[in-house]
Amino acid sequence: MLMSRFDFLEIATMGMGALGFAAAKASAAGGPLEKAQAEATRLKVTGVDIYAYDLPLKSPFRIAIGTMPAANDVLVRVHTDAGITGVGEACPFPPITGETQETNLAAAKALREIVLGRNPLAIESLFREFGAFVHSNPSATAAFDTALHDILGKIAGLPLFRLLGGDRTSFATDITVDLDEPETMARRAREFAAAGFDIIKIKVGQGQDLDLRRLEAVRAAVGPDIVLQIDANQGWAPPVAIDTLRKMERFNILFVEQPVLASDFDGLRAVKAASPIPVMADEAAFGPADVLKLAKAEACDYVNIKLMKAGGLGNMSKMAHIADGANMACMVGCMLESRLALTAAAHIVAARRNILWTDLDGHTSHTIDPVTDGMTFAKGLITLPEKPGIGAEVDPDFLKTLKKF
Ligand SMILES: [Mg+2]
Repeated sequence: MLMSRFDFLEIATMGMGALGFAAAKASAAGGPLEKAQAEATRLKVTGVDIYAYDLPLKSPFRIAIGTMPAANDVLVRVHTDAGITGVGEACPFPPITGETQETNLAAAKALREIVLGRNPLAIESLFREFGAFVHSNPSATAAFDTALHDILGKIAGLPLFRLLGGDRTSFATDITVDLDEPETMARRAREFAAAGFDIIKIKVGQGQDLDLRRLEAVRAAVGPDIVLQIDANQGWAPPVAIDTLRKMERFNILFVEQPVLASDFDGLRAVKAASPIPVMADEAAFGPADVLKLAKAEACDYVNIKLMKAGGLGNMSKMAHIADGANMACMVGCMLESRLALTAAAHIVAARRNILWTDLDGHTSHTIDPVTDGMTFAKGLITLPEKPGIGAEVDPDFLKTLKKF
């Protein structure tokens, strides 16, 4: 056993008990993780597997600006010469992010060329190159950024949220009722409340009469104690939004997401100024620069941060920090991703204290859940695993059924 001067002094001071400790340390130094830590500075990406990751939905998911028949995602697995692998998921949502599985696959092949042979821990540098190359495919960059953060956590031997300074392992999440007839939405809301969800998100944005009947039916079905939030997904013109929100005040709503067009900052600001219900920007806030613009314009009360809009976990953190500087609270939301990307996003919730609300329920729309480990989701509560990195993987048997690129 080689002994450093520090180990010698430690043993001399502490006696034979410390000798055992030093021996254990030396023995641990031969483990695969410690070897990888020692090699971190010269770590290299040796390969990237890209999969078309299709997840059927129980029924088409309907919001004001479009309907999604399935979740057609992209999965990436980044391999390193240390034998550690990182995983990440892209979940393109065409009506919102303007990308598709096909464009994400093309972008992923280009991103693979950027990371091959590079140090996967150089996330900041690599992310800048991703942005310069495929700025219109945020979900594809999100998949790679997630895989790199997964490797970072595994090399450090820590769950990502702990590496980022977080300490919340468990927090509440809402669950979403998508667009349907008022009676159907009310029944589904009542079922969610009975299953233990205290916060329910109701999709609206199709016209004042119908939307008011939806809220009337839902509030009557769940009673006064369930927290309701609504999401218009850009469906209202500003005057309609103001009038509708005034009429909805009596339903006791926590906040409204994106009442007007994403591009209409002035309209959003006008709604925020006149609405009795706080306004959260969603589609108007893709990345850090958008949060700064919204804060400067005082165009919203809150911001909804999503991995697939932000293009990565690092950008999600930056958005939360900018909002924090402007005294704005945030929610972390999702598209229709599996528990893999949802778990990745949940690490940012656990690590950033001004993220007060969580909307990470995308996987509940799927007919299958091929993710092993990862966050648990039950009775309105998300709990993160104490595993290094993201702490989630995709079942190897399921991977064998996917088309690989
Ligand atoms: Mg939304």
